[in-house]
Amino acid sequence: MLKLKIADAIQNSHLLKNVMDLEEIFWRNPEYKSFLDVKLPLSREDIDDASRRLERFAPYIVRAFPETAVDGGIIESRLVRVDSMKKELESIYGAVLPGQLLIKCDSHLKISGSIKARGGIYEVLKHAEDLAISEGLLPGEKDVNYEIFASSEFNEFYSEHEVAVGSTGNLGLSIGIMAAKLGFKASVHMSADAKQWKKDKLRSLGVNVHEYMSDYSAAVEAGRKEAENNPKCYFVDDENSTNLFLGYAVAALRLKNQLDDMGIKVSGTHPLFVYLPCGVGGAPGGIAFGLKQIYGDDVHVFFAEPTHSPCMTIGLMTGLHNQVCVQDFGIDNVTEADGLAVGRASGLVGSMLQNLISGCYTVSDGTMFKLLAKLADSENIMLEPSALAGMTGIVNIITAESGREYLLNQGITNKENIAHIAWATGGSMVPDDIMREYYNKGLKC
Ligand SMILES: *Cc1c(COP(=O)(O)O)cnc(C)c1O
Repeated sequence: MLKLKIADAIQNSHLLKNVMDLEEIFWRNPEYKSFLDVKLPLSREDIDDASRRLERFAPYIVRAFPETAVDGGIIESRLVRVDSMKKELESIYGAVLPGQLLIKCDSHLKISGSIKARGGIYEVLKHAEDLAISEGLLPGEKDVNYEIFASSEFNEFYSEHEVAVGSTGNLGLSIGIMAAKLGFKASVHMSADAKQWKKDKLRSLGVNVHEYMSDYSAAVEAGRKEAENNPKCYFVDDENSTNLFLGYAVAALRLKNQLDDMGIKVSGTHPLFVYLPCGVGGAPGGIAFGLKQIYGDDVHVFFAEPTHSPCMTIGLMTGLHNQVCVQDFGIDNVTEADGLAVGRASGLVGSMLQNLISGCYTVSDGTMFKLLAKLADSENIMLEPSALAGMTGIVNIITAESGREYLLNQGITNKENIAHIAWATGGSMVPDDIMREYYNKGLKC
């Protein structure tokens, strides 16, 4: 049955054939709907609850990670205008790009240096809080100073518990660092894509790192199995976790404040376009969900994937979501963009957001490396390859035929008024020698 559906989808879509040929494509979602017409299982209140939890934990975060003291224990990244990079893009693509281009620097989030510092850290904190409450360690929890989570009593309590996760690298880094800091036993199941330095870093913190020759889905399965056999082991399920999702969604509340502070107003006539690199879909999905709660139809969200790992693009395009993986379409899921090397998308995200995502596009490894070097030269911002996927969103919207169609369809006529945000998702923890290799490779692309 599934085989037939796959064959049928390929037969009926020229664009899907281009995806299978590993071409860079831009897909406009025909199922895109107005925000008010979409029913969602989660609400703004859920995001606010997550945000308040992070505020409760702020004093603990300051204690545990003193480098966060300057921000009062709130882990947040800068939003910066990148006019020089916009000029670079104009020259590379030979097109004038109206509107303003900004970068959201999650690459430089404290503690774990990637977008995973949002969802991953949030979920571990939530789990720690849940355990503490059920153990009776937090009487009258709302009034307790959460610095207590740094106490030896809490540390000992958590040492009897374990946290496990499957990852291509960055989620493992974020979960492992946070879990180990609280005192948990931590177990990270790494796919073949995971970079050696990420494994080394985790091992140096006492995290149990398991390595697999296979891809992300297999690493997740292994983590899930481990947790099933141990009642004291909590599995962070990147494919299905609501907590991760909500941790990411909090980014939207923070972004709104930053846009307000920068005097960038978002409205029907001044729309916001956001381009999010996508792996399994949890991080971009959570952020998209949060942004829709705040800005509704005035925000337009696009997911960006490697040409070799377009799992969300294919899942949405075919409507087959997590029933299919890229290998079903003859695509190998091999990319240097390790943060995005996922062959099967999250079912939770695909089905929840199928009407709210404006579109998807793909980017080759060569493009990501080239833009990595250009961004370093023009703005002195160093990112890992995955994080560059968002950068071509503005180019697609302005120059691709379906991008222009999208604008027309949405009644957006004044392109000067658009604020484009490329979400930069990782990079600050990459060791210098490896970053130099990336940069040098990018100069040749
Ligand atoms: C994980 C990751 C993403 C995408 O997040 P998903 O939840 O897997 O979709 C993007 N960029 C980087 C650098 C990442 O590590």
